[in-house]
Amino acid sequence: MIAVDALSYRYDDELVLDEISVTLDEEWVVLTGPNGSGKTTLVRQFNGLLEPDSGVVRVDDTPVQDDPVAARTAVGMVFQSPRSQFVAATVGADVAFGPENLGLDHDEIDRRVQAALTAVNLDGREDDRIETLSGGERARLAIAGALAMEPDHLVLDEPFTGLDWPAQQSVLGHLDTLSAEGVGVVVVTHDLRDMRSRADRVIGLRDGQIAFDLPPGAAGDRLSDIDVRVPAGW
Ligand code: ADP
Repeated sequence: MIAVDALSYRYDDELVLDEISVTLDEEWVVLTGPNGSGKTTLVRQFNGLLEPDSGVVRVDDTPVQDDPVAARTAVGMVFQSPRSQFVAATVGADVAFGPENLGLDHDEIDRRVQAALTAVNLDGREDDRIETLSGGERARLAIAGALAMEPDHLVLDEPFTGLDWPAQQSVLGHLDTLSAEGVGVVVVTHDLRDMRSRADRVIGLRDGQIAFDLPPGAAGDRLSDIDVRVPAGW
């Protein structure tokens, strides 16, 4: 569980998050809102990439700042631009990096790398150089890197940007599987196509505050309040 309590955050003089309180269980949550509403700044606090100016984020009841390693283990992050998140030259080495840093033994690292690559249909590609992968393959590799940490929550910031339709559907299919296995999925996106039937909750952010937190059906009427396009057929 990720529990955000009265979280505020500033960049210089700009108040970007204004006393946000919200709790996320192992469910499928869509976090949406216009550009600049604070979505990325909020999710980066879930595993300690940013520290609140005031308020606290707890992961499984422990404040993130008290145990950042536990938070990073429990909450996996996949960023909008996966290129910047790769740390190795090859597929297998990149996915192994996180588990290696947890100090796991070799057999366990191998097991996790295989499971994560299989989950995103990149098994057998361990020795491929990342620079040779397509955009969709890189997006799936970024997810595999997060999966290898065996997180309780997976947070994906604009995961569909730059992906063609088949790659989007492939990523969504993998997220469906994870969700069915009980992993919490948080998708940060302003593109709500394909989300209605999947999300348990849609949280709308505007000017650093939560404008609404509703099941998808009820959220539909509120999307235009925060300048998010309502997909056809919502
Ligand atoms: P969103 O993800 O909803 O687009 P962000 O969290 O990226 O919103 O940004 C919220 C606000 O914080 C915006 O006004 C943005 O300009 C500002 N901001 C984001 N990152 C930085 C940064 N590194 N330095 C200064 N301001 C930033």
